Amino acid sequence: MQLNRLIDIASGKDIMSKQELENKTQKKIHWYVYMQIKNMTEYKSKIMSTPLTDFEQILNYTQREKKGMVSKIYAILLSCLKSTDLPCQSKWHQDCNTEKTQEKWEEIWSSSIFTSKVISIRLQTFKIIHRWHLTPKRLSTISSSCSPLCWKSCNEVGSFSHCWWGCPLIATFWKEILEVIKQITSYDIPLSPSIIFLDQWNIPQIPKAIRNLIAILLVAAKSATASVWKLKKVPTKEMWLSKTWDRFILDKINDNILNAERFPARSNFYDKWFPFLEFIDMHDLHPKIRIAQTLTQFSDIW
Ligand SMILES: [Zn+2]
Repeated sequence: MQLNRLIDIASGKDIMSKQELENKTQKKIHWYVYMQIKNMTEYKSKIMSTPLTDFEQILNYTQREKKGMVSKIYAILLSCLKSTDLPCQSKWHQDCNTEKTQEKWEEIWSSSIFTSKVISIRLQTFKIIHRWHLTPKRLSTISSSCSPLCWKSCNEVGSFSHCWWGCPLIATFWKEILEVIKQITSYDIPLSPSIIFLDQWNIPQIPKAIRNLIAILLVAAKSATASVWKLKKVPTKEMWLSKTWDRFILDKINDNILNAERFPARSNFYDKWFPFLEFIDMHDLHPKIRIAQTLTQFSDIW
C-alpha cells in the first residue's frame, strides 16, 4: 500500500503507532518526526478525509499509467478556464454586496491588463483581484498560534475587507488619498471596494488619459497599503506619492521604448501625467520628488 496522504496513515480517529508506521514504510522513523506528524494530524483531521483531487490522482500514477499524462494535465488546467465562478469572485460579491455578471468580470480582468503596460503594475492589480494577500483572519485558520486580530492594533478581526478598506486607520488613509486625487484630477472617487479594487467606476465623460492616471494613482495607493501589510504602521500620503513617482518613471521608460520614438502620436503619456506633475510642482510634497524636478526641469525627458 502506498503512503501518499495523511488518510493513509489513519487508524480510527488517530494515526498508526510508530511501530506500525515503521512496518508499513519499512523505514526507521525518528520519534520526533513521528510526534510532528501526529501533532499535524490533530489540526488537519478534515484534510485527512477529503477525496483525492484529479490532480492528486495523476501524481499517484504508476509508471504504466503515466501514458498520456501530459494531455490529462492539460485537460485539468483547461477545465479551470471553464469555471464560471472562481472563489475570489464569490468573495468579492459578498464584499461588494452585489452579484457581478460574467460580462462585468470580463471587464474587470481586461481593465487590470490595460491599466498599464508595466508588468509589475499589472501584477499588483491581479494580486488584489485574486485576493492573494494573507490576512490575520486567514492565517489564524491555518495556524492556531496566529491571532485573527488586525495588525494595525485596532482590536478588530483582520479580514480581507477590513485590512484593505474597513480598518478605521486604513480608511483614514484612503480618505486622504481620494481627496488628493480629487485635487489632481477634479474627479470625486468614492471609497467603494467595487470602484477602488475592481476598477468598476464608470464616468462616461472622463478623458481616457485621466482615467488611466486615476487607475495608476489607485494602484500606487494599494501598493503603499501592501508595503506595510503586516506592520503596525499605516500607509501615508508621502509613501503613496513615492510609489506613484516610481510608476511615473517606469511608465516613462515604457513609453520611450514603445511609443515615443516610433509612434509619438499614439502616446498619451504627457496628457496622462501632466495633472500629477503639475500638482507636485505646486505643492512641496516629497523630498524624492522635490529633488527630481519641476515641470520645466522635466521638459528634457518628455
Ligand atoms: Zn484594523
